[in-house]
Amino acid sequence: MPKPRLNVLIVGAGLGGLSAAIAIRLAGHEVLVLEQASTLSEVGAGIQIPPNSARFLISWGLREAMDRVSVLPETIRLRSYRDGSILNEQPLVPLTEEVYGGPYWHCHRADFHKVLVEKCYAIGGLTIEVRINSMVTEIDFEAPSVTLSTGRTIGADLIVGSDGLKSKCREQFLGRSDPPHLTGDLAYRLLVKAEEMRKHKDLEEFVSKPAINTWMGPQAHAVCYLLKGGGYYNMVLICPDNMPGGVNVMPADPAEVLQLFKSWDPRLKKMISLVSSVSKWRLQNSTEMASWTHPSGKFTLLGDACHATLPYLAQGAAIAVEDGGVLGGLLGKLEDRSQLPGLLRVYEGLRKNRTTKIVVGSTNMRDILHMEDGEEQRRRDAVLLADDIKPGFPNKWRDPVFRNFLFSYDGAREVEIAWERFRERSGSGAVGTFRAML
Ligand SMILES: Cc1cc2nc3c(=O)[nH]c(=O)nc-3n(C[C@H](O)[C@H](O)[C@H](O)COP(=O)(O)OP(=O)(O)OC[C@H]3O[C@@H](n4cnc5c(N)ncnc54)[C@H](O)[C@@H]3O)c2cc1C
Repeated sequence: MPKPRLNVLIVGAGLGGLSAAIAIRLAGHEVLVLEQASTLSEVGAGIQIPPNSARFLISWGLREAMDRVSVLPETIRLRSYRDGSILNEQPLVPLTEEVYGGPYWHCHRADFHKVLVEKCYAIGGLTIEVRINSMVTEIDFEAPSVTLSTGRTIGADLIVGSDGLKSKCREQFLGRSDPPHLTGDLAYRLLVKAEEMRKHKDLEEFVSKPAINTWMGPQAHAVCYLLKGGGYYNMVLICPDNMPGGVNVMPADPAEVLQLFKSWDPRLKKMISLVSSVSKWRLQNSTEMASWTHPSGKFTLLGDACHATLPYLAQGAAIAVEDGGVLGGLLGKLEDRSQLPGLLRVYEGLRKNRTTKIVVGSTNMRDILHMEDGEEQRRRDAVLLADDIKPGFPNKWRDPVFRNFLFSYDGAREVEIAWERFRERSGSGAVGTFRAML
Protein backbone atom coordinates (compact mmCIF):
# COMPACT_ATOMS: atom_id res chain seq x y z
CA MET A 1 0.00 0.00 0.00
CA PRO A 2 1.43 3.46 -0.88
CA LYS A 3 2.36 5.53 2.12
CA PRO A 4 0.18 8.58 2.78
CA ARG A 5 1.67 11.89 1.71
CA LEU A 6 0.76 14.73 4.07
CA ASN A 7 0.67 18.46 3.47
CA VAL A 8 2.68 19.81 6.39
CA LEU A 9 2.62 23.51 7.21
CA ILE A 10 5.46 24.82 9.36
CA VAL A 11 5.15 28.22 11.05
CA GLY A 12 8.58 29.91 11.28
CA ALA A 13 11.74 29.51 9.22
CA GLY A 14 14.24 29.60 12.08
CA LEU A 15 16.85 26.88 12.62
CA GLY A 16 14.17 24.62 14.15
CA GLY A 17 11.52 25.15 11.47
CA LEU A 18 13.95 24.62 8.60
CA SER A 19 15.38 21.46 10.20
CA ALA A 20 11.86 20.09 10.53
CA ALA A 21 11.12 21.07 6.93
CA ILE A 22 14.14 19.11 5.67
CA ALA A 23 13.45 16.04 7.81
CA ILE A 24 9.73 15.98 6.97
CA ARG A 25 10.36 16.46 3.25
CA LEU A 26 12.99 13.69 3.29
CA ALA A 27 10.32 11.54 4.96
CA GLY A 28 8.19 11.93 1.83
CA HIS A 29 5.72 14.68 2.72
CA GLU A 30 5.00 18.06 1.16
CA VAL A 31 6.13 21.04 3.18
CA LEU A 32 5.17 24.70 3.22
CA VAL A 33 7.10 26.97 5.62
CA LEU A 34 5.54 30.34 6.47
CA GLU A 35 7.91 33.02 7.73
CA GLN A 36 6.80 36.43 8.94
CA ALA A 37 10.06 38.22 8.04
CA SER A 38 10.65 39.84 4.68
CA THR A 39 13.98 38.06 4.18
CA LEU A 40 15.32 34.67 5.18
CA SER A 41 18.15 35.14 7.63
CA GLU A 42 19.32 34.66 11.22
CA VAL A 43 20.23 37.40 13.65
CA GLY A 44 23.16 37.27 16.07
CA ALA A 45 26.68 36.06 15.34
CA GLY A 46 28.13 32.69 16.34
CA ILE A 47 26.47 29.43 17.19
CA GLN A 48 27.84 26.20 18.61
CA ILE A 49 26.58 23.03 16.99
CA PRO A 50 27.23 20.06 19.27
CA PRO A 51 27.40 16.47 17.96
CA ASN A 52 23.84 15.59 18.99
CA SER A 53 22.70 18.17 16.44
CA ALA A 54 25.55 17.64 13.95
CA ARG A 55 24.63 13.97 13.52
CA PHE A 56 21.16 14.90 12.27
CA LEU A 57 22.63 17.46 9.87
CA ILE A 58 25.04 14.84 8.56
CA SER A 59 22.19 12.36 8.09
CA TRP A 60 20.50 14.97 5.87
CA GLY A 61 23.61 15.14 3.66
CA LEU A 62 24.95 18.40 5.10
CA ARG A 63 28.40 17.30 6.28
CA GLU A 64 30.32 18.98 3.48
CA ALA A 65 28.27 22.19 3.51
CA MET A 66 28.61 22.55 7.29
CA ASP A 67 32.32 21.71 7.27
CA ARG A 68 32.81 24.48 4.70
CA VAL A 69 31.31 27.20 6.93
CA SER A 70 32.46 25.90 10.32
CA VAL A 71 35.42 25.89 12.65
CA LEU A 72 36.23 22.84 14.80
CA PRO A 73 37.12 23.84 18.36
CA GLU A 74 39.71 21.52 19.84
CA THR A 75 38.67 21.92 23.44
CA ILE A 76 36.30 23.60 25.92
CA ARG A 77 38.25 25.58 28.56
CA LEU A 78 36.86 26.96 31.78
CA ARG A 79 38.87 29.91 33.07
CA SER A 80 38.98 32.05 36.16
CA TYR A 81 37.69 35.57 35.49
CA ARG A 82 40.50 37.49 37.19
CA ASP A 83 43.53 36.26 35.31
CA GLY A 84 42.07 33.83 32.79
CA SER A 85 43.97 30.89 34.29
CA ILE A 86 42.64 27.57 33.06
CA LEU A 87 40.68 25.70 35.73
CA ASN A 88 39.56 22.76 33.64
CA GLU A 89 39.21 21.63 30.06
CA GLN A 90 37.43 19.05 27.99
CA PRO A 91 39.10 18.11 24.68
CA LEU A 92 36.57 17.79 21.84
CA VAL A 93 38.83 16.45 19.08
CA PRO A 94 38.88 13.54 18.40
CA LEU A 95 36.41 12.73 21.21
CA THR A 96 33.17 13.88 19.62
CA GLU A 97 33.78 12.12 16.28
CA GLU A 98 35.08 8.93 17.88
CA VAL A 99 32.64 8.60 20.75
CA TYR A 100 29.59 10.57 19.61
CA GLY A 101 29.80 10.09 15.85
CA GLY A 102 29.88 13.74 14.86
CA PRO A 103 31.87 16.97 15.07
CA TYR A 104 31.40 19.89 17.42
CA TRP A 105 31.05 22.78 14.96
CA HIS A 106 31.11 26.55 15.37
CA CYS A 107 29.78 28.79 12.69
CA HIS A 108 28.08 32.06 11.95
CA ARG A 109 24.32 31.73 12.39
CA ALA A 110 23.67 33.27 8.99
CA ASP A 111 25.87 30.59 7.37
CA PHE A 112 24.09 27.78 9.24
CA HIS A 113 20.70 29.17 8.27
CA LYS A 114 21.79 29.49 4.62
CA VAL A 115 22.95 25.86 4.55
CA LEU A 116 19.47 24.80 5.75
CA VAL A 117 17.63 27.07 3.29
CA GLU A 118 19.74 25.78 0.40
CA LYS A 119 19.04 22.20 1.43
CA CYS A 120 15.31 22.93 1.45
CA TYR A 121 15.54 23.97 -2.19
CA ALA A 122 17.96 21.22 -3.19
CA ILE A 123 15.80 18.25 -2.23
CA GLY A 124 14.55 16.65 -5.41
CA GLY A 125 11.01 15.65 -6.29
CA LEU A 126 8.45 17.82 -4.56
CA THR A 127 9.94 21.03 -3.25
CA ILE A 128 9.70 22.62 0.13
CA GLU A 129 8.29 26.08 -0.26
CA VAL A 130 9.53 28.71 2.17
CA ARG A 131 7.22 31.71 1.93
CA ILE A 132 8.36 35.04 3.41
CA ASN A 133 6.12 37.99 4.44
CA SER A 134 3.70 35.44 5.86
CA MET A 135 2.80 36.20 9.45
CA VAL A 136 0.45 33.68 11.03
CA THR A 137 -2.08 35.37 13.30
CA GLU A 138 -4.61 32.60 13.98
CA ILE A 139 -4.81 28.84 13.97
CA ASP A 140 -7.82 26.59 13.57
CA PHE A 141 -6.58 23.41 15.26
CA GLU A 142 -9.42 21.20 14.05
CA ALA A 143 -9.40 22.10 10.35
CA PRO A 144 -6.39 22.49 10.63
CA SER A 145 -5.52 25.83 9.02
CA VAL A 146 -3.72 29.07 9.68
CA THR A 147 -4.81 32.61 8.94
CA LEU A 148 -2.22 35.16 7.90
CA SER A 149 -2.13 38.88 8.77
CA THR A 150 -3.43 39.46 5.23
CA GLY A 151 -6.58 37.53 6.11
CA ARG A 152 -5.69 34.61 3.84
CA THR A 153 -6.38 31.12 5.22
CA ILE A 154 -4.15 28.15 4.36
CA GLY A 155 -5.10 24.57 5.19
CA ALA A 156 -2.88 21.52 5.75
CA ASP A 157 -2.96 18.00 7.19
CA LEU A 158 -0.54 18.91 9.96
CA ILE A 159 0.61 22.25 11.40
CA VAL A 160 3.94 22.53 13.21
CA GLY A 161 4.48 25.67 15.28
CA SER A 162 8.16 26.59 15.28
CA ASP A 163 7.81 30.33 15.70
CA GLY A 164 10.30 30.81 18.52
CA LEU A 165 10.25 32.24 22.02
CA LYS A 166 7.41 34.72 21.42
CA SER A 167 5.33 32.04 19.76
CA LYS A 168 1.89 33.01 18.48
CA CYS A 169 1.27 29.29 17.95
CA ARG A 170 1.95 28.54 21.64
CA GLU A 171 -0.42 31.31 22.75
CA GLN A 172 -3.17 30.15 20.39
CA PHE A 173 -2.70 26.58 21.60
CA LEU A 174 -2.84 27.63 25.27
CA GLY A 175 -5.79 29.92 24.55
CA ARG A 176 -4.20 32.79 26.47
CA SER A 177 -1.39 35.27 26.32
CA ASP A 178 1.95 33.71 27.38
CA PRO A 179 4.70 36.28 26.94
CA PRO A 180 8.29 35.26 27.72
CA HIS A 181 9.52 36.16 31.19
CA LEU A 182 12.73 37.91 32.17
CA THR A 183 15.61 35.78 33.43
CA GLY A 184 17.60 38.59 35.04
CA ASP A 185 20.46 38.16 32.55
CA LEU A 186 21.43 39.73 29.26
CA ALA A 187 23.95 38.82 26.58
CA TYR A 188 26.36 41.25 24.96
CA ARG A 189 27.25 39.93 21.52
CA LEU A 190 30.56 41.12 20.07
CA LEU A 191 32.62 40.25 17.01
CA VAL A 192 36.32 41.08 16.69
CA LYS A 193 38.40 40.67 13.55
CA ALA A 194 40.93 37.93 14.32
CA GLU A 195 43.60 39.88 12.42
CA GLU A 196 43.22 42.68 14.98
CA MET A 197 43.80 40.17 17.77
CA ARG A 198 46.84 38.70 16.02
CA LYS A 199 48.56 42.09 16.36
CA HIS A 200 48.71 41.46 20.13
CA LYS A 201 51.06 38.75 21.32
CA ASP A 202 49.07 38.04 24.49
CA LEU A 203 45.94 37.36 22.42
CA GLU A 204 47.68 35.01 19.99
CA GLU A 205 46.64 31.84 21.86
CA PHE A 206 42.95 32.63 21.33
CA VAL A 207 43.20 32.89 17.58
CA SER A 208 45.97 30.40 16.78
CA LYS A 209 43.99 27.28 17.70
CA PRO A 210 40.19 27.08 17.73
CA ALA A 211 38.82 26.49 21.24
CA ILE A 212 35.82 27.47 23.32
CA ASN A 213 37.08 29.71 26.11
CA THR A 214 34.72 30.43 28.99
CA TRP A 215 35.63 32.88 31.75
CA MET A 216 33.58 32.44 34.95
CA GLY A 217 33.06 35.34 37.37
CA PRO A 218 30.62 36.86 39.86
CA GLN A 219 27.14 37.08 38.26
CA ALA A 220 28.66 36.89 34.81
CA HIS A 221 30.52 34.77 32.29
CA ALA A 222 32.07 35.15 28.85
CA VAL A 223 32.08 32.55 26.07
CA CYS A 224 34.44 33.18 23.16
CA TYR A 225 35.39 31.26 20.03
CA LEU A 226 36.61 31.64 16.45
CA LEU A 227 34.27 31.92 13.46
CA LYS A 228 34.41 32.23 9.68
CA GLY A 229 37.48 30.11 8.92
CA GLY A 230 39.20 31.74 11.88
CA GLY A 231 38.59 35.26 10.51
CA TYR A 232 36.47 36.49 13.42
CA TYR A 233 36.43 36.05 17.18
CA ASN A 234 32.92 35.71 18.59
CA MET A 235 32.31 36.90 22.13
CA VAL A 236 29.14 36.41 24.18
CA LEU A 237 29.30 38.17 27.54
CA ILE A 238 26.50 37.41 29.98
CA CYS A 239 25.76 39.66 32.95
CA PRO A 240 22.80 41.00 34.96
CA ASP A 241 20.07 42.59 32.85
CA ASN A 242 20.40 46.39 32.78
CA MET A 243 18.15 47.08 29.80
CA PRO A 244 15.30 49.58 29.85
CA GLY A 245 11.78 48.14 30.14
CA GLY A 246 10.17 46.97 26.92
CA VAL A 247 13.43 46.77 24.95
CA ASN A 248 14.84 43.35 24.10
CA VAL A 249 17.67 44.12 21.68
CA MET A 250 19.67 47.34 21.41
CA PRO A 251 23.08 48.62 20.34
CA ALA A 252 25.62 49.04 23.14
CA ASP A 253 28.86 50.88 23.70
CA PRO A 254 32.07 48.82 24.11
CA ALA A 255 32.99 51.26 26.92
CA GLU A 256 29.93 50.11 28.86
CA VAL A 257 31.04 46.47 28.51
CA LEU A 258 34.58 47.35 29.58
CA GLN A 259 33.23 49.06 32.66
CA LEU A 260 31.15 46.01 33.64
CA PHE A 261 34.10 43.65 33.13
CA LYS A 262 36.75 46.00 34.54
CA SER A 263 38.09 43.54 37.11
CA TRP A 264 38.35 40.64 34.60
CA ASP A 265 41.31 39.08 32.75
CA PRO A 266 43.23 41.94 31.06
CA ARG A 267 43.28 39.90 27.83
CA LEU A 268 39.48 39.70 27.78
CA LYS A 269 39.35 43.47 28.25
CA LYS A 270 41.84 43.95 25.44
CA MET A 271 39.61 41.88 23.13
CA ILE A 272 36.59 43.96 24.13
CA SER A 273 38.50 47.14 23.34
CA LEU A 274 39.12 45.86 19.79
CA VAL A 275 35.47 45.57 18.79
CA SER A 276 33.82 48.30 16.82
CA SER A 277 30.20 47.49 17.52
CA VAL A 278 28.29 45.66 20.22
CA SER A 279 24.67 44.74 20.70
CA LYS A 280 22.89 43.55 23.80
CA TRP A 281 20.07 41.05 24.04
CA ARG A 282 17.78 40.51 26.94
CA LEU A 283 17.68 36.82 27.82
CA GLN A 284 14.08 35.72 28.23
CA ASN A 285 12.46 32.37 28.75
CA SER A 286 9.09 30.67 28.87
CA THR A 287 7.42 28.31 31.33
CA GLU A 288 7.29 24.57 30.71
CA MET A 289 4.07 23.54 28.95
CA ALA A 290 1.88 20.64 30.06
CA SER A 291 1.67 19.43 26.47
CA TRP A 292 2.80 20.50 22.97
CA THR A 293 0.30 18.59 20.90
CA HIS A 294 -3.33 19.53 20.26
CA PRO A 295 -5.97 16.86 21.02
CA SER A 296 -7.09 17.13 17.35
CA GLY A 297 -3.85 15.32 16.47
CA LYS A 298 -3.17 17.86 13.73
CA PHE A 299 -0.90 20.34 15.49
CA THR A 300 2.31 20.25 17.49
CA LEU A 301 5.12 22.57 18.53
CA LEU A 302 8.91 22.45 18.34
CA GLY A 303 12.04 24.43 19.22
CA ASP A 304 11.98 27.62 21.29
CA ALA A 305 8.20 27.82 20.82
CA CYS A 306 7.82 25.02 23.39
CA HIS A 307 11.17 24.72 25.20
CA ALA A 308 13.11 27.98 25.10
CA THR A 309 16.26 27.79 27.20
CA LEU A 310 19.02 29.96 28.57
CA PRO A 311 22.01 29.45 26.28
CA TYR A 312 24.38 28.24 29.04
CA LEU A 313 24.75 24.71 27.65
CA ALA A 314 24.71 25.95 24.02
CA GLN A 315 21.90 23.50 23.23
CA GLY A 316 18.82 25.58 22.30
CA ALA A 317 19.10 25.28 18.54
CA ALA A 318 20.56 21.78 18.86
CA ILE A 319 17.42 20.48 20.54
CA ALA A 320 15.27 22.30 17.98
CA VAL A 321 17.19 20.40 15.26
CA GLU A 322 16.66 17.17 17.21
CA ASP A 323 12.90 17.90 17.41
CA GLY A 324 12.76 18.33 13.65
CA GLY A 325 14.75 15.15 13.08
CA VAL A 326 12.59 13.05 15.39
CA LEU A 327 9.32 14.45 14.03
CA GLY A 328 10.48 13.84 10.46
CA GLY A 329 11.63 10.31 11.34
CA LEU A 330 8.24 9.45 12.84
CA LEU A 331 6.30 10.96 9.95
CA GLY A 332 8.45 8.83 7.65
CA LYS A 333 6.95 5.74 9.32
CA LEU A 334 3.33 6.77 8.80
CA GLU A 335 1.36 3.96 7.11
CA ASP A 336 -2.09 5.42 7.48
CA ARG A 337 -3.40 8.91 8.19
CA SER A 338 -5.26 7.60 11.23
CA GLN A 339 -1.88 7.05 12.90
CA LEU A 340 -1.02 10.77 12.87
CA PRO A 341 -2.50 11.73 16.28
CA GLY A 342 -0.75 8.79 17.93
CA LEU A 343 2.55 9.58 16.25
CA LEU A 344 2.40 13.19 17.42
CA ARG A 345 1.98 11.90 20.97
CA VAL A 346 4.97 9.63 20.44
CA TYR A 347 6.96 12.65 19.21
CA GLU A 348 6.09 14.61 22.33
CA GLY A 349 6.77 11.58 24.52
CA LEU A 350 10.24 11.18 23.00
CA ARG A 351 11.16 14.83 23.20
CA LYS A 352 9.63 16.44 26.28
CA ASN A 353 11.64 14.87 29.12
CA ARG A 354 14.92 15.37 27.31
CA THR A 355 14.29 19.00 26.40
CA THR A 356 13.04 19.82 29.91
CA LYS A 357 16.17 18.29 31.41
CA ILE A 358 18.33 20.43 29.12
CA VAL A 359 16.37 23.60 29.91
CA VAL A 360 16.72 22.92 33.66
CA GLY A 361 20.39 21.97 33.23
CA SER A 362 21.04 25.25 31.38
CA THR A 363 19.44 27.28 34.17
CA ASN A 364 21.46 25.38 36.77
CA MET A 365 24.65 26.18 34.85
CA ARG A 366 24.19 29.79 35.85
CA ASP A 367 24.90 28.86 39.50
CA ILE A 368 28.13 27.18 38.46
CA LEU A 369 29.27 29.88 36.04
CA HIS A 370 28.25 32.95 38.06
CA MET A 371 29.53 32.21 41.59
CA GLU A 372 30.46 35.14 43.75
CA ASP A 373 34.03 35.14 45.09
CA GLY A 374 34.10 33.16 48.33
CA GLU A 375 34.16 29.73 49.91
CA GLU A 376 31.86 28.05 47.42
CA GLN A 377 33.77 29.47 44.45
CA ARG A 378 37.09 28.34 45.93
CA ARG A 379 35.66 24.85 46.38
CA ARG A 380 34.39 24.84 42.78
CA ASP A 381 37.78 25.93 41.48
CA ALA A 382 39.61 23.33 43.58
CA VAL A 383 37.36 20.54 42.25
CA LEU A 384 37.89 21.76 38.68
CA LEU A 385 41.66 21.98 39.11
CA ALA A 386 41.85 18.52 40.71
CA ASP A 387 40.00 17.20 37.64
CA ASP A 388 38.54 14.37 39.69
CA ILE A 389 35.85 13.63 37.14
CA LYS A 390 32.69 12.05 38.42
CA PRO A 391 28.96 12.63 38.02
CA GLY A 392 28.09 16.10 39.26
CA PHE A 393 31.47 17.50 38.13
CA PRO A 394 31.03 21.29 37.64
CA ASN A 395 32.40 21.24 34.08
CA LYS A 396 29.24 19.70 32.58
CA TRP A 397 30.99 18.92 29.28
CA ARG A 398 33.46 16.80 31.26
CA ASP A 399 30.93 15.11 33.56
CA PRO A 400 30.74 11.74 31.76
CA VAL A 401 27.12 11.06 32.61
CA PHE A 402 25.83 14.49 31.68
CA ARG A 403 28.02 14.77 28.58
CA ASN A 404 26.75 11.41 27.35
CA PHE A 405 23.21 12.56 27.98
CA LEU A 406 23.82 15.71 25.90
CA PHE A 407 25.93 14.36 23.06
CA SER A 408 25.00 10.73 22.56
CA TYR A 409 21.30 11.27 21.91
CA ASP A 410 20.41 9.07 18.96
CA GLY A 411 17.09 10.38 17.70
CA ALA A 412 17.00 8.02 14.72
CA ARG A 413 17.31 5.00 17.01
CA GLU A 414 14.70 6.43 19.39
CA VAL A 415 12.34 6.70 16.44
CA GLU A 416 12.93 3.05 15.45
CA ILE A 417 12.29 1.77 18.97
CA ALA A 418 9.25 3.99 19.50
CA TRP A 419 7.79 2.98 16.14
CA GLU A 420 8.12 -0.72 16.98
CA ARG A 421 6.38 -0.13 20.30
CA PHE A 422 3.73 1.98 18.60
CA ARG A 423 2.91 -0.78 16.13
CA GLU A 424 2.88 -3.48 18.79
CA ARG A 425 0.62 -1.50 21.07
CA SER A 426 -1.68 0.09 18.55
CA GLY A 427 -2.19 -3.17 16.67
CA SER A 428 -4.56 -2.70 13.73
CA GLY A 429 -4.98 1.06 13.86
CA ALA A 430 -6.03 1.19 17.52
CA VAL A 431 -4.21 4.48 17.90
CA GLY A 432 -6.47 5.63 20.70
CA THR A 433 -5.37 2.70 22.86
CA PHE A 434 -1.76 3.69 22.37
CA ARG A 435 -2.48 7.31 23.24
CA ALA A 436 -4.05 6.25 26.48
CA MET A 437 -0.91 4.35 27.41
CA LEU A 438 1.47 7.30 26.90
C1 LIG B 1 22.96 34.66 23.22
C2 LIG B 1 22.46 33.33 22.71
C3 LIG B 1 23.38 32.35 22.35
C4 LIG B 1 22.94 31.09 21.91
N1 LIG B 1 23.87 30.15 21.57
C5 LIG B 1 23.46 28.93 21.15
C6 LIG B 1 24.41 27.94 20.76
O1 LIG B 1 25.62 28.18 20.76
N2 LIG B 1 23.95 26.72 20.36
C7 LIG B 1 22.60 26.43 20.32
O2 LIG B 1 22.23 25.29 19.96
N3 LIG B 1 21.67 27.35 20.67
C8 LIG B 1 22.07 28.60 21.06
N4 LIG B 1 21.14 29.55 21.39
C9 LIG B 1 19.69 29.21 21.31
C10 LIG B 1 19.18 29.27 19.86
O3 LIG B 1 19.51 30.49 19.26
C11 LIG B 1 17.67 29.07 19.81
O4 LIG B 1 17.29 28.02 20.68
C12 LIG B 1 17.22 28.72 18.39
O5 LIG B 1 17.63 29.70 17.48
C13 LIG B 1 15.70 28.52 18.35
O6 LIG B 1 15.30 28.24 17.03
P1 LIG B 1 13.76 28.20 16.64
O7 LIG B 1 13.73 27.89 15.18
O8 LIG B 1 13.01 27.35 17.58
O9 LIG B 1 13.24 29.69 16.90
P2 LIG B 1 13.65 31.05 16.19
O10 LIG B 1 15.07 31.03 15.79
O11 LIG B 1 13.20 32.14 17.10
O12 LIG B 1 12.79 31.07 14.85
C14 LIG B 1 11.43 31.38 14.84
C15 LIG B 1 11.05 31.90 13.46
O13 LIG B 1 9.65 32.05 13.40
C16 LIG B 1 9.33 33.29 12.80
N5 LIG B 1 8.01 33.68 13.31
C17 LIG B 1 7.71 34.12 14.55
N6 LIG B 1 6.41 34.35 14.67
C18 LIG B 1 5.85 34.05 13.46
C19 LIG B 1 4.52 34.10 12.96
N7 LIG B 1 3.49 34.49 13.74
N8 LIG B 1 4.30 33.74 11.67
C20 LIG B 1 5.33 33.33 10.86
N9 LIG B 1 6.62 33.29 11.31
C21 LIG B 1 6.86 33.64 12.59
C22 LIG B 1 10.47 34.21 13.24
O14 LIG B 1 10.59 35.34 12.41
C23 LIG B 1 11.65 33.26 13.15
O15 LIG B 1 12.22 33.24 11.86
C24 LIG B 1 21.55 30.82 21.83
C25 LIG B 1 20.62 31.81 22.17
C26 LIG B 1 21.07 33.06 22.60
C27 LIG B 1 20.05 34.09 22.96
